[in-house]
Amino acid sequence: MAAPGTQSLTVLVVGSGGREHALALAISKDPAVGSVHVAPGNPGTARIAANHPLDIMDGDAVAALAIALHADLVVIGPEAPLVAGIADSVRAAGIACFGPSQAAAQLEGSKAFAKSVMADAGVPTARARVCTDAAAASAALDEFGAPYVVKADGLAAGKGVVVTANREAALDHARECEQVVIEEYLDGPELSLFVITDGESAVPLPAAQDFKRVGENDEGPNTGGMGSYAPLPWLPAGTVETVMAQVVRPTLARMRELGTPFAGLLYVGLSLTGVGPRVVEFNARFGDPETEVVLPLLDGPFAQVLLAAAIGQLAQAPRLALRPGACVGVVLASQGYPAAPHPGGTIMLAPEPAQVHVVHAGTALDAHGQLVSAGGRVLCVVAHGDDLEQARERAYAHIDEIDFATGFCRRDIAAPARLAAIAARLG
Ligand code: AMP
Repeated sequence: MAAPGTQSLTVLVVGSGGREHALALAISKDPAVGSVHVAPGNPGTARIAANHPLDIMDGDAVAALAIALHADLVVIGPEAPLVAGIADSVRAAGIACFGPSQAAAQLEGSKAFAKSVMADAGVPTARARVCTDAAAASAALDEFGAPYVVKADGLAAGKGVVVTANREAALDHARECEQVVIEEYLDGPELSLFVITDGESAVPLPAAQDFKRVGENDEGPNTGGMGSYAPLPWLPAGTVETVMAQVVRPTLARMRELGTPFAGLLYVGLSLTGVGPRVVEFNARFGDPETEVVLPLLDGPFAQVLLAAAIGQLAQAPRLALRPGACVGVVLASQGYPAAPHPGGTIMLAPEPAQVHVVHAGTALDAHGQLVSAGGRVLCVVAHGDDLEQARERAYAHIDEIDFATGFCRRDIAAPARLAAIAARLG
């Protein structure tokens, strides 16, 4: 409950994954928040908020629920409703919404659009060609050489990008898509920077790194993310300031010039190449599983900051301080993920020790009320520690207490040897 004299905000989080559980947790800790609702939510969000059934792609339905709840703020988690313009529907109903307009969400919805904004704004990124036929794609592959990077233009739930040394495979992917972006390969450690913005002011959160491949040592296919950690001990001093100056501010300025200001969460995916940070991608929402490790590092009125961004008053918002220490998140996935996950396995959670919590990503309750897996990524075990090593030990110690026979995780998330290898690479 809000303390006497403060506001008592009602917040609706839209979505049902680990990101939304993490958002709901951070929002519920803001003393100005009176009630938190999640739609449709999951069994994890049901423990800390009220869940509501909802078709999140139906703008009228989302706005109607927000009105019925007397919501002061709607926070839209996933990219699909943003690209479909659901934030516009909520705002049209007179309710503050944290999430970009349909037009601004094109920064994620179309890689060709993102590339043109970056080119106009002078943002450092991979050189690229937009191709709509095989002959142009073939020429672009030869222009940039191997490794080849071929990206489907539209939203593809993480499956649209092929990075390969095999020219035939690259060309096949280009042929399967109507329009592709073919670009030069960026060689360097990757990081994710979340920036809260009202379109003008911008507040960066601690940089994080996720682990995209399903297997240890980054083997196997790409996934939605198998784990993450923040902050990044190897990040060169001044990197965030450089990215704010070279990437974020010019991009926001260009979006204003286009008449489509970007307000919400700008996710900047970066590669730290030998010639400086280069943008790998923009997303128009919080990333998963980085959100799970970034938000617990924030100390301050998170919901009030999101509300201020939603109503164009971020410059006047209270500051978000940082908690000392570090967070590690390890994802438990259903066996077979990502190609053919086998959901339905039973899960027995264990009491959460201090500094550890379990975020639900793809869980459900069966007819007997038993917690079961209901998707590819199922849980994310998040631990805080004085440093990454302590956080990591706590996360894996708790994973060993969870009974989930049909699940698996990577054992090398935030492993010291991996961090040392990145630091060595950066010199
Ligand atoms: P995207 O959807 O654009 O983020 O691409 C997904 C993943 O593919 C990225 O996170 C990178 O790991 C990889 N990737 C994308 N573009 C490039 C690039 N130009 N060079 C190297 N790797 C890339």
